[in-house]
Amino acid sequence: MNVTEKKKVCMVCGKPSEASICDGCKANIQGEALGGKQKVDKKVKIEPDALRRKKD
Ligand SMILES: [Zn+2]
Repeated sequence: MNVTEKKKVCMVCGKPSEASICDGCKANIQGEALGGKQKVDKKVKIEPDALRRKKD
């Protein structure tokens, strides 16, 4: 079977992925490399609030 060779998986989480590292892990790694994991968390929290405020 050549399935193993043909099927690509993320080398970090092992999930099927066309890239050697899936988007999720890529973002995680990049975020950690930049030390921006907290920044991303903050941004995600702020955005819904800002949208809510605009609507109100
Ligand atoms: Zn992954």
